[in-house]
Amino acid sequence: MPPKFQIAERLQKLPPYLFAEIDKKKKAAIAAGRDVINLGIGDPDSPTPKFVIDALYKHAQNPATHQYALDNGSPELRGAAARWMKKRFGVELSPDGEIYPIIGSKEGIAHFPLAYINPGDAALIPEPGYPPYRSGTIFAGGEPVMMPLLAKNGFLPDLGAIKPASLKRAKMIYVNYPNNPTGAVADAKFYQELLAFAQKHDLIVVSDTAYSELAFDGAEPMSMLSIPGAMERVIEFHSFSKTFNMTGWRVGFAAGSAELCGALGKVKTNVDSGIFTAIQLAAVEALERYDDFISPLRAMYQKRCDVFCDGLAKLGLAVQKPRGAFYVWFPTPKGLQSADAATRILEEADIVLTPGIGFGPSGEGYLRAALTVPEKRLAEAVGRIGRIKW
Ligand SMILES: *Cc1c(COP(=O)(O)O)cnc(C)c1O
Repeated sequence: MPPKFQIAERLQKLPPYLFAEIDKKKKAAIAAGRDVINLGIGDPDSPTPKFVIDALYKHAQNPATHQYALDNGSPELRGAAARWMKKRFGVELSPDGEIYPIIGSKEGIAHFPLAYINPGDAALIPEPGYPPYRSGTIFAGGEPVMMPLLAKNGFLPDLGAIKPASLKRAKMIYVNYPNNPTGAVADAKFYQELLAFAQKHDLIVVSDTAYSELAFDGAEPMSMLSIPGAMERVIEFHSFSKTFNMTGWRVGFAAGSAELCGALGKVKTNVDSGIFTAIQLAAVEALERYDDFISPLRAMYQKRCDVFCDGLAKLGLAVQKPRGAFYVWFPTPKGLQSADAATRILEEADIVLTPGIGFGPSGEGYLRAALTVPEKRLAEAVGRIGRIKW
């Protein structure tokens, strides 16, 4: 049946969903009882730590948490986030204005352009990349201008390649390190260059730091806010989802100047009414126990990364180990198109991978594997891929 109502142009402008066919095959394989290894979604398989669940339980008993939360977040969470930013990155922020709790970082990232983008403005967006940068820009009436992330540039955007005409219209630039999907990590030199570029062209920098706590082989993700001069034009989006296995809880925080956080807040007070206070207080507990929790988590992903990458390398695939996040981004066997390679691996090995093209045109020729299943399953996946006759 044709739709009764025509959907708004902003929805029509979103890129089409490419993987309906692969999704159907995946569902059919699972329904047929096949032993499918799902490396398709970036959702941690480990549970939320017990101390966070206990804190939620405790605070949910208190009726004071049952009413509308304060729009700008609970003072406890703002305080804990400010202390964590200081301890973790050496960044000094005021809990009153320079930290703004959000309903998961996706929410903040997608709503932020509503605060600054007018129709006709552009946002510079990395591709391959996380889809909300683009959809948030489109919903605000802006034009996404894509910046390819290429292996030859270490998956950093080539700022010098952005067309002057696009730059003139650009109001903001998105970056995401450690990067989904490429696993690249940015260093101080890159952030310094980015800041100088943003100053020259008067851009706001939106830095998605959802994976700041997951890095491999000694890589050390940093906060761009720690670069002198960054405070006035950088807003960072931090998330509890990947750091504390809390994807379903929907909590994160924005960090940056009171001006940028305040503008985000102005949008948010008009579309939501805060985060369940007991969840915010449980998030405080997560930040306070960060030091004990994070090392074993990193060690777990490091081992998974080694098993999977070393295994694929032995099969002769040109795999570069990620430096951060929890994805392996690798070229398709025999230079196949990414959707074709993913379809064959699903059909012949019962393994779900994400075709790189789904993250943007520069993702063509790549596959993304999420390291969100146990080591043994990753070893099994490598064995199965090794048996495919390309
Ligand atoms: C998972 C992820 C997030 C985090 O999203 P939440 O909304 O906090 O769960 C943000 N950015 C990227 C690139 C991600 O992959």
